[in-house]
Amino acid sequence: MILSVIIPVYNEQGNIEYLYDELRDTLKSIKTYEVIFVDDGSEDRTYEVLERIAKKDKKIRVIKHRSNYGKGVALQSGLDICKGENIIVMDGDGQHDPKYIHDYLEKLKSHDVVTSVRSGRGGIGPGIVTPIGNFLIRSLFKTDLKDGVGSKIGFTRQVKDNIFVYGNLFRYIPLLALWKGFKVTEHEIVIRPRRSGQSKFNIFKPFKGFIDLLTMKFFVSYSTRPSHIFGSAGLISLGIGGLALAYLFLKKLFIGTAITESLPMFLLGILLVLIGFNFLFFGFLGDMLSHDKLERRRNESYRIERVI
Ligand code: UDP
Ligand code: MG
Repeated sequence: MILSVIIPVYNEQGNIEYLYDELRDTLKSIKTYEVIFVDDGSEDRTYEVLERIAKKDKKIRVIKHRSNYGKGVALQSGLDICKGENIIVMDGDGQHDPKYIHDYLEKLKSHDVVTSVRSGRGGIGPGIVTPIGNFLIRSLFKTDLKDGVGSKIGFTRQVKDNIFVYGNLFRYIPLLALWKGFKVTEHEIVIRPRRSGQSKFNIFKPFKGFIDLLTMKFFVSYSTRPSHIFGSAGLISLGIGGLALAYLFLKKLFIGTAITESLPMFLLGILLVLIGFNFLFFGFLGDMLSHDKLERRRNESYRIERVI
Protein backbone atom coordinates (compact mmCIF):
# COMPACT_ATOMS: atom_id res chain seq x y z
CA MET A 1 0.00 0.00 0.00
CA ILE A 2 1.54 3.27 -1.10
CA LEU A 3 -0.83 5.77 0.44
CA SER A 4 -3.42 6.09 3.20
CA VAL A 5 -5.56 9.21 3.31
CA ILE A 6 -7.27 9.69 6.66
CA ILE A 7 -10.27 11.99 6.92
CA PRO A 8 -12.07 12.60 10.23
CA VAL A 9 -15.67 13.64 9.65
CA TYR A 10 -18.31 14.85 12.04
CA ASN A 11 -21.67 15.91 10.59
CA GLU A 12 -20.33 16.41 7.07
CA GLN A 13 -23.15 14.76 5.08
CA GLY A 14 -23.19 17.59 2.55
CA ASN A 15 -19.46 17.50 1.83
CA ILE A 16 -18.50 13.87 1.49
CA GLU A 17 -19.77 12.99 -1.97
CA TYR A 18 -18.11 15.97 -3.59
CA LEU A 19 -14.87 15.31 -1.72
CA TYR A 20 -14.99 11.65 -2.74
CA ASP A 21 -15.31 12.59 -6.42
CA GLU A 22 -12.40 15.00 -6.13
CA LEU A 23 -10.28 12.40 -4.36
CA ARG A 24 -11.00 9.66 -6.90
CA ASP A 25 -10.06 12.03 -9.66
CA THR A 26 -6.85 13.15 -8.00
CA LEU A 27 -5.75 9.68 -6.94
CA LYS A 28 -6.43 7.80 -10.17
CA SER A 29 -2.74 7.87 -11.11
CA ILE A 30 -1.84 6.11 -7.86
CA LYS A 31 -2.14 2.34 -7.99
CA THR A 32 -2.54 1.36 -4.40
CA TYR A 33 -4.17 3.65 -1.95
CA GLU A 34 -6.90 3.64 0.66
CA VAL A 35 -9.07 6.45 1.94
CA ILE A 36 -10.18 6.02 5.53
CA PHE A 37 -13.13 8.10 6.62
CA VAL A 38 -13.57 8.19 10.37
CA ASP A 39 -17.16 9.05 11.20
CA ASP A 40 -16.70 10.64 14.59
CA GLY A 41 -20.18 9.97 15.94
CA SER A 42 -22.12 12.12 13.46
CA GLU A 43 -25.77 12.81 14.21
CA ASP A 44 -26.67 13.50 10.57
CA ARG A 45 -26.59 11.14 7.57
CA THR A 46 -22.80 11.13 7.25
CA TYR A 47 -22.50 7.41 7.95
CA GLU A 48 -25.13 6.44 5.39
CA VAL A 49 -23.38 8.45 2.71
CA LEU A 50 -20.06 6.81 3.62
CA GLU A 51 -21.57 3.33 3.69
CA ARG A 52 -22.97 3.80 0.19
CA ILE A 53 -19.60 4.94 -1.17
CA ALA A 54 -17.69 2.15 0.59
CA LYS A 55 -20.01 -0.48 -0.90
CA LYS A 56 -19.13 0.45 -4.47
CA ASP A 57 -15.48 1.40 -3.97
CA LYS A 58 -13.15 -1.06 -2.26
CA LYS A 59 -10.51 1.63 -1.75
CA ILE A 60 -12.76 3.39 0.72
CA ARG A 61 -12.75 2.23 4.33
CA VAL A 62 -15.02 3.59 7.00
CA ILE A 63 -14.71 3.61 10.77
CA LYS A 64 -17.80 4.51 12.73
CA HIS A 65 -17.32 5.80 16.25
CA ARG A 66 -20.01 5.17 18.85
CA SER A 67 -19.92 8.77 19.93
CA ASN A 68 -18.26 12.11 19.15
CA TYR A 69 -14.74 11.94 20.59
CA GLY A 70 -13.13 14.88 18.78
CA LYS A 71 -10.90 15.20 15.74
CA GLY A 72 -7.72 14.10 17.51
CA VAL A 73 -9.20 10.81 18.66
CA ALA A 74 -10.78 10.25 15.22
CA LEU A 75 -7.35 10.68 13.71
CA GLN A 76 -5.80 8.17 16.09
CA SER A 77 -8.53 5.70 15.28
CA GLY A 78 -7.74 6.00 11.56
CA LEU A 79 -4.00 5.78 12.15
CA ASP A 80 -4.46 2.54 14.09
CA ILE A 81 -5.93 0.68 11.11
CA CYS A 82 -4.20 2.35 8.15
CA LYS A 83 -1.81 0.31 6.01
CA GLY A 84 -0.06 2.92 3.87
CA GLU A 85 3.65 3.63 3.68
CA ASN A 86 2.74 7.30 3.42
CA ILE A 87 -0.10 8.80 5.39
CA ILE A 88 -1.94 12.02 4.66
CA VAL A 89 -4.42 13.54 7.06
CA MET A 90 -6.95 16.05 5.80
CA ASP A 91 -10.28 17.65 6.70
CA GLY A 92 -13.55 16.38 5.29
CA ASP A 93 -15.31 19.72 4.91
CA GLY A 94 -13.81 20.64 1.54
CA GLN A 95 -11.31 23.13 3.01
CA HIS A 96 -8.35 20.99 1.99
CA ASP A 97 -7.95 20.56 -1.75
CA PRO A 98 -6.96 16.93 -2.52
CA LYS A 99 -4.75 18.12 -5.38
CA TYR A 100 -1.94 18.82 -2.91
CA ILE A 101 -1.61 15.10 -2.17
CA HIS A 102 0.78 14.71 -5.12
CA ASP A 103 3.01 17.56 -3.91
CA TYR A 104 3.03 16.02 -0.46
CA LEU A 105 3.98 12.58 -1.81
CA GLU A 106 6.80 14.12 -3.82
CA LYS A 107 8.20 15.80 -0.69
CA LEU A 108 7.78 12.64 1.38
CA LYS A 109 10.40 11.02 -0.83
CA SER A 110 13.07 13.12 0.87
CA HIS A 111 11.34 14.07 4.14
CA ASP A 112 9.50 12.33 6.96
CA VAL A 113 6.81 14.94 7.51
CA VAL A 114 5.14 17.52 5.27
CA THR A 115 3.03 20.12 7.00
CA SER A 116 0.91 22.93 5.59
CA VAL A 117 1.52 26.65 5.43
CA ARG A 118 -2.02 27.91 5.21
CA SER A 119 -3.17 30.87 3.18
CA GLY A 120 -6.48 32.12 1.85
CA ARG A 121 -8.16 32.46 5.21
CA GLY A 122 -9.55 35.69 6.65
CA GLY A 123 -10.94 36.88 9.98
CA ILE A 124 -9.51 37.43 13.46
CA GLY A 125 -8.60 33.77 14.01
CA PRO A 126 -6.17 33.42 11.12
CA GLY A 127 -5.35 37.17 11.16
CA ILE A 128 -4.33 37.54 14.81
CA VAL A 129 -4.42 34.26 16.72
CA THR A 130 -2.45 32.23 14.16
CA PRO A 131 0.48 34.70 13.89
CA ILE A 132 0.73 34.91 17.71
CA GLY A 133 0.59 31.12 17.94
CA ASN A 134 3.28 30.75 15.30
CA PHE A 135 5.51 33.26 17.03
CA LEU A 136 5.16 31.34 20.32
CA ILE A 137 5.87 28.04 18.57
CA ARG A 138 9.00 29.39 16.91
CA SER A 139 10.34 30.81 20.18
CA LEU A 140 9.39 27.91 22.46
CA PHE A 141 10.59 25.17 20.14
CA LYS A 142 13.39 27.00 18.35
CA THR A 143 12.22 26.03 14.89
CA ASP A 144 11.85 28.14 11.77
CA LEU A 145 8.54 26.58 10.71
CA LYS A 146 6.37 29.25 9.10
CA ASP A 147 3.14 27.61 10.27
CA GLY A 148 3.70 25.38 13.29
CA VAL A 149 0.11 24.22 13.61
CA GLY A 150 -0.48 21.15 11.48
CA SER A 151 -3.65 21.34 9.37
CA LYS A 152 -3.12 19.09 6.39
CA ILE A 153 -0.25 16.82 7.39
CA GLY A 154 1.57 14.07 5.53
CA PHE A 155 4.04 11.66 7.11
CA THR A 156 5.66 8.29 6.71
CA ARG A 157 4.76 5.10 8.53
CA GLN A 158 7.92 5.41 10.61
CA VAL A 159 6.70 8.71 12.00
CA LYS A 160 3.32 7.19 12.79
CA ASP A 161 4.97 4.30 14.63
CA ASN A 162 7.19 6.60 16.63
CA ILE A 163 4.89 9.29 17.86
CA PHE A 164 1.77 8.94 19.90
CA VAL A 165 -0.82 11.62 19.32
CA TYR A 166 -3.43 11.91 22.01
CA GLY A 167 -6.24 14.41 22.41
CA ASN A 168 -5.70 17.57 20.44
CA LEU A 169 -1.95 17.29 20.25
CA PHE A 170 -2.38 16.07 16.66
CA ARG A 171 -1.98 19.72 15.68
CA TYR A 172 1.59 19.50 16.82
CA ILE A 173 2.59 16.32 14.99
CA PRO A 174 5.22 18.32 13.06
CA LEU A 175 6.73 19.59 16.33
CA LEU A 176 6.68 16.14 17.93
CA ALA A 177 8.35 14.74 14.83
CA LEU A 178 11.02 17.47 14.86
CA TRP A 179 11.69 16.66 18.49
CA LYS A 180 12.18 12.99 17.66
CA GLY A 181 14.65 13.95 14.97
CA PHE A 182 12.52 13.46 11.84
CA LYS A 183 12.97 15.65 8.78
CA VAL A 184 10.08 18.10 8.53
CA THR A 185 9.28 20.34 5.58
CA GLU A 186 6.43 22.68 4.67
CA HIS A 187 4.14 23.07 1.69
CA GLU A 188 1.98 26.06 0.94
CA ILE A 189 -1.71 25.31 0.54
CA VAL A 190 -4.66 27.58 -0.09
CA ILE A 191 -7.47 26.81 2.35
CA ARG A 192 -10.83 26.84 0.61
CA PRO A 193 -14.06 27.91 2.26
CA ARG A 194 -16.06 25.11 3.88
CA ARG A 195 -18.48 23.72 1.27
CA SER A 196 -21.47 23.15 3.53
CA GLY A 197 -22.35 22.61 7.18
CA GLN A 198 -20.92 24.30 10.26
CA SER A 199 -17.38 24.63 11.52
CA LYS A 200 -16.91 23.17 15.00
CA PHE A 201 -14.75 26.15 15.85
CA ASN A 202 -15.58 27.97 19.08
CA ILE A 203 -14.11 30.74 21.17
CA PHE A 204 -12.34 28.28 23.51
CA LYS A 205 -10.33 26.69 20.74
CA PRO A 206 -7.42 29.19 20.81
CA PHE A 207 -7.15 28.86 24.60
CA LYS A 208 -7.14 25.09 24.41
CA GLY A 209 -4.57 25.36 21.66
CA PHE A 210 -2.38 27.48 23.92
CA ILE A 211 -2.63 25.00 26.82
CA ASP A 212 -1.79 22.22 24.35
CA LEU A 213 1.24 24.19 23.27
CA LEU A 214 2.47 24.43 26.86
CA THR A 215 1.80 20.71 27.34
CA MET A 216 3.86 20.08 24.22
CA LYS A 217 6.70 22.22 25.52
CA PHE A 218 6.59 20.34 28.80
CA PHE A 219 6.55 17.05 26.92
CA VAL A 220 9.46 17.92 24.73
CA SER A 221 11.58 19.27 27.56
CA TYR A 222 10.74 17.04 30.49
CA SER A 223 8.75 13.98 29.48
CA THR A 224 11.59 11.58 30.20
CA ARG A 225 12.61 13.31 33.44
CA PRO A 226 9.65 15.16 35.02
CA SER A 227 11.64 15.26 38.28
CA HIS A 228 14.00 17.77 36.69
CA ILE A 229 11.42 20.53 36.54
CA PHE A 230 9.40 19.57 39.64
CA GLY A 231 12.54 18.77 41.56
CA SER A 232 14.21 22.10 40.73
CA ALA A 233 11.13 24.10 41.70
CA GLY A 234 10.84 21.98 44.87
CA LEU A 235 14.47 22.50 45.84
CA ILE A 236 14.27 26.27 45.33
CA SER A 237 11.13 26.50 47.47
CA LEU A 238 12.62 24.20 50.09
CA GLY A 239 15.84 26.22 50.12
CA ILE A 240 14.19 29.63 50.62
CA GLY A 241 11.76 28.28 53.23
CA GLY A 242 14.56 26.46 55.03
CA LEU A 243 16.73 29.60 55.16
CA ALA A 244 13.87 31.67 56.57
CA LEU A 245 13.18 29.11 59.31
CA ALA A 246 16.88 28.69 60.09
CA TYR A 247 17.23 32.47 60.44
CA LEU A 248 14.34 32.64 62.90
CA PHE A 249 15.68 29.65 64.81
CA LEU A 250 19.18 31.10 65.13
CA LYS A 251 17.76 34.46 66.19
CA LYS A 252 15.81 32.72 68.93
CA LEU A 253 18.92 30.74 69.96
CA PHE A 254 21.38 33.63 70.16
CA ILE A 255 19.32 36.76 70.75
CA GLY A 256 16.29 35.20 72.36
CA THR A 257 13.63 36.71 70.05
CA ALA A 258 10.47 34.62 70.01
CA ILE A 259 10.05 32.80 66.68
CA THR A 260 6.45 34.04 66.43
CA GLU A 261 7.64 37.64 66.60
CA SER A 262 8.10 37.55 62.79
CA LEU A 263 4.90 35.66 62.20
CA PRO A 264 4.62 36.33 58.44
CA MET A 265 8.16 35.11 57.86
CA PHE A 266 7.55 32.04 60.02
CA LEU A 267 4.35 31.14 58.15
CA LEU A 268 5.93 31.76 54.77
CA GLY A 269 8.90 29.60 55.75
CA ILE A 270 6.67 26.70 56.72
CA LEU A 271 4.59 27.11 53.56
CA LEU A 272 7.63 27.11 51.29
CA VAL A 273 9.11 24.06 52.99
CA LEU A 274 5.83 22.14 52.60
CA ILE A 275 5.40 23.17 48.97
CA GLY A 276 9.02 22.29 48.32
CA PHE A 277 8.61 18.76 49.67
CA ASN A 278 5.41 18.35 47.66
CA PHE A 279 7.06 19.38 44.42
CA LEU A 280 10.03 17.16 45.05
CA PHE A 281 7.79 14.15 45.50
CA PHE A 282 5.60 15.10 42.50
CA GLY A 283 8.80 14.93 40.52
CA PHE A 284 9.67 11.44 41.76
CA LEU A 285 6.11 10.32 41.11
CA GLY A 286 6.31 11.76 37.61
CA ASP A 287 9.50 9.89 36.92
CA MET A 288 7.93 6.66 38.08
CA LEU A 289 4.86 7.21 35.88
CA SER A 290 6.86 8.12 32.81
CA HIS A 291 8.32 4.64 32.90
CA ASP A 292 4.82 3.34 32.42
CA LYS A 293 4.29 3.63 28.70
CA LEU A 294 1.56 6.11 27.82
CA GLU A 295 0.88 4.03 24.73
CA ARG A 296 -0.63 1.27 26.80
CA ARG A 297 -3.72 3.37 27.38
CA ARG A 298 -4.31 4.47 23.81
CA ASN A 299 -6.83 1.88 22.77
CA GLU A 300 -9.15 2.87 25.54
CA SER A 301 -9.77 6.38 24.26
CA TYR A 302 -12.37 5.32 21.67
CA ARG A 303 -14.70 2.49 20.87
CA ILE A 304 -15.30 1.41 17.28
CA GLU A 305 -18.68 0.16 16.25
CA ARG A 306 -17.78 -1.18 12.85
CA VAL A 307 -14.96 -1.20 10.32
CA ILE A 308 -15.59 -1.61 6.60
N1 UDP B 1 -14.17 16.83 13.14
C1 UDP B 1 -14.27 15.58 13.76
N2 UDP B 1 -14.72 15.51 15.05
C2 UDP B 1 -15.04 16.63 15.77
C3 UDP B 1 -14.90 17.90 15.14
C4 UDP B 1 -14.45 17.96 13.83
O1 UDP B 1 -13.99 14.55 13.15
O2 UDP B 1 -15.44 16.51 16.92
C5 UDP B 1 -13.71 16.91 11.73
C6 UDP B 1 -14.62 17.75 10.84
O3 UDP B 1 -15.68 16.99 10.32
C7 UDP B 1 -13.66 18.21 9.75
C8 UDP B 1 -12.35 18.38 10.52
O4 UDP B 1 -12.46 17.58 11.70
O5 UDP B 1 -13.50 17.24 8.74
C9 UDP B 1 -12.07 19.84 10.86
O6 UDP B 1 -13.15 20.37 11.62
P1 UDP B 1 -13.73 21.84 11.41
O7 UDP B 1 -13.90 22.12 9.94
O8 UDP B 1 -14.92 21.97 12.26
O9 UDP B 1 -12.58 22.74 12.02
P2 UDP B 1 -12.02 24.13 11.43
O10 UDP B 1 -11.60 23.86 10.00
O11 UDP B 1 -13.18 25.08 11.49
O12 UDP B 1 -10.88 24.47 12.32
MG1 MG C 1 -12.91 23.19 8.56
